[in-house]
Amino acid sequence: MRNEIKSLTIETAIDKLSQKEFSAVELTKRCLKSIKEKEKVLLAFLNVDEKLSLQQAEIADQQIEQLAEDDLPELIGIPIAVKDNILVEGMLCTAGSKILKNYIAPYNATVIRKLRQAGAIIIGKTNLDEFAMGSSTENSAFQITKNPIDLERVPGGSSGGSAVAVAGGEAICALGSETGGSVRQPASFCGLVGLKPTYGSVSRFGLIAFASSIDQIGPLTKTVSGAKRIFRVIRGIDSNDSTTKTFPKNDRKTLSLKEIRIGVPQEYFTKEVDRGVSDLIKKTINQLEKEKVKVIDVSLPHTKYALPAYYIIAPSEASTNLARYDGIRYGCPVKAKTLTDLYFQSRGEGFGAEVKRRIMLGTYSLSAGYYDAYYKRAQKVRELIKQDFRRVFQEVDFLLTPTTPSPAFKIGERNQDPVQMYLSDLLNAPANLAGIPALSLPIGKVDNLPIGLQIIGPSFSEERIFSFAEHIEAQLKR
Ligand code: GLN
Repeated sequence: MRNEIKSLTIETAIDKLSQKEFSAVELTKRCLKSIKEKEKVLLAFLNVDEKLSLQQAEIADQQIEQLAEDDLPELIGIPIAVKDNILVEGMLCTAGSKILKNYIAPYNATVIRKLRQAGAIIIGKTNLDEFAMGSSTENSAFQITKNPIDLERVPGGSSGGSAVAVAGGEAICALGSETGGSVRQPASFCGLVGLKPTYGSVSRFGLIAFASSIDQIGPLTKTVSGAKRIFRVIRGIDSNDSTTKTFPKNDRKTLSLKEIRIGVPQEYFTKEVDRGVSDLIKKTINQLEKEKVKVIDVSLPHTKYALPAYYIIAPSEASTNLARYDGIRYGCPVKAKTLTDLYFQSRGEGFGAEVKRRIMLGTYSLSAGYYDAYYKRAQKVRELIKQDFRRVFQEVDFLLTPTTPSPAFKIGERNQDPVQMYLSDLLNAPANLAGIPALSLPIGKVDNLPIGLQIIGPSFSEERIFSFAEHIEAQLKR
């Protein structure tokens, strides 16, 4: 197989599989070999099951043999890496935490069931910040994943392992999860496309909960059409997740370039954003303006409160979601004299520093004396942020912003200062709190490091976002 995994897109792989240029087993073996070679350095995977991957590949090859090309499922024979907070039956699922180091998933997440139905091959489980809390993957209890573009830098987080599996050429594509930027930010840092879908468009059943009112699963791919393909497979209503919603009927109706109105929110181009990053984004916007796309300056005045509100709401929900890891229901059993000792020991040893910090922040914000001042207030802010977006989306179709304030930072640079780390989510958290979709598209480099353009749209506008992003992607290739 001459095609390097690193440059192989989902579309090309499917073409070649259906033309029988190579088989799904060959493709899977190629990925497994690549994983073996590259993992010594990259450390993107926590767990790879060769036998299971090859079994799935054999099934895909049988289907390719039996079905007409047009009848082949959408992701036939495609090796996909999955963030280790998404359950794959029979495989370990650690969420990057010592407290779940021996936990074997008893069932498949809905997204996994759907991926399998679509012919995809789950090649392995990828590293993440413990319980998806972090922006660099340095909070994993197990290993520090390296950015393949510059090994001294972080891949972003919390879905850093998934991004590196794709950008480093170990898998064709990956699934990550988002609570506050965890798909878009690593996508931006590693030069990939990453989508945070509308809240409720993808089932959370089988996703280890962080902040249930915000969590969403999303794809990491090399191209927009790859992200679209995966999204179309995993989206949809699910009786196991009551927060899933049906898509409006006309959601696939896209806009022509001349119809598109873009909003440029001033609050996303502040002094916190590197000059090089905002210049590159503005250059792209100018280019679109030359193509007769209407560009309008807009304001989302409550943006500056999004990060503080996020860091109240997400830890509050996390503190209740993580109560189940008590060493009895979940977590490693420890020998202790009293029940209190058991809790202290198992949670004390099982959780890392960032997770403990979040549990304390959340418990504090929810406690009787402080509930109104913190949690309730943050929820009011959340509503104001939603209203900001609702108002601007009456005037424009998409918002264009940088995905992150800076390119990938160095390993160790921010992990001693939680607030510095939290600031990396500055431009992502608003869309998460509002529940609206946002995609990061690689648009160039600053200091040789990839930069993402963020396209934010109203709820259920994914198809419109894809078609607009495909246009920009094509322009960049010219
Ligand atoms: N970096 C954010 C946090 O630490 C977001 C993480 C995520 O999206 N899972 O909470």
